[in-house]
Amino acid sequence: MLRNSLLWASTNPFLAERLPRYRFVQKATKRFMPGEDFDDVVREAQNLKAKGITTTTTLLGENLISLGEADSVVAGYQQDLRRIEDVGLDMEISVKPTQIGLDFGVDEARDRLAQLADSTDSLVWVDMEGSEYVDRTLEMFRSVKEEKSNVGLCVQSYLRRTEADIEALLPLDPAIRIVKGAYNEPESIAFPSKGDVDRGFVKLAQTLLRARLNGAQGRVVLGTHDPRMIAETTRIAFELGLDKEQYEFAMLFGIQRDEQERLVRQGHHVRVLVSYGSAWFPWYMRRLAERPANLWFVAKQLVG
Ligand SMILES: Cc1cc2nc3c(=O)[nH]c(=O)nc-3n(C[C@H](O)[C@H](O)[C@H](O)COP(=O)(O)OP(=O)(O)OC[C@H]3O[C@@H](n4cnc5c(N)ncnc54)[C@H](O)[C@@H]3O)c2cc1C
Repeated sequence: MLRNSLLWASTNPFLAERLPRYRFVQKATKRFMPGEDFDDVVREAQNLKAKGITTTTTLLGENLISLGEADSVVAGYQQDLRRIEDVGLDMEISVKPTQIGLDFGVDEARDRLAQLADSTDSLVWVDMEGSEYVDRTLEMFRSVKEEKSNVGLCVQSYLRRTEADIEALLPLDPAIRIVKGAYNEPESIAFPSKGDVDRGFVKLAQTLLRARLNGAQGRVVLGTHDPRMIAETTRIAFELGLDKEQYEFAMLFGIQRDEQERLVRQGHHVRVLVSYGSAWFPWYMRRLAERPANLWFVAKQLVG
């Protein structure tokens, strides 16, 4: 119930306009993002690098109102990529399809994703948004992936369709980040029970790890903070006899920091997604929905 309310709030334009003005809300976001500027990301990425953790960055924002805005997003990411190279960080970028123009057409977003892929040798990740975008996102991703090797895709284990989508994508040998999924979806489209979402996650991981065993090169990224998912997928990789370089874990900045460091100590590759930008409201509400106990943290900023 609380999760649904928070996810509803994440799509409410009135709240998106009002709530970020409150100082206690601004302070509370610090738990999940170091700041609104890319300089904040670079600073935290350097701290993480010292701990053996690599990074991915995302400029927050979704559902743009013009293609001109999508061009500015691309230009901003290109500037970030130059900076990443200058400071010598192992940092990748992850973009939301609607941020690069998917609402205006698959071709529009496709061209901008291709431009980003041409701007770097490292991987450009495509986030997965709400279920109404999945078909178009897959079409865009396929089209770019057929020409360029350095694009990767996020898939969501809560969607009933994802197992079939992965089977269909396997011939492309794609880099895939598996996550559980962060949007409010109807039962007809997404598994309502956590057990099914978790089982889906493990099954997808198993499929992709098996493909690695059979020679696939596409990176397998396990995007989760869930200790059970981490234990299960590590066990499967071990039983298949995979090296720790053949899969990796990804977590969000500020969540399960001890677990991130523990995995690194065990020789696993961990990448942390560090977000920035001023349009953080919908994204932040989805983080609260993932763990409503985080609301206590917001409340503490109100009194503290
Ligand atoms: C690198 C990365 C990229 C992502 N990209 C996308 C994407 O493109 N599309 C998409 O739909 N979703 C994305 N997500 C979000 C994802 O779908 C989940 O909503 C989120 O990761 C929570 O699921 P979980 O696997 O951590 O497991 P859960 O079962 O949700 O959580 C397991 C445990 O992790 C901890 N935890 C989880 N979330 C939080 C939180 N917000 N605050 C504090 N503790 C928490 C808690 O201890 C919790 O008990 C991404 C997540 C990561 C890590």
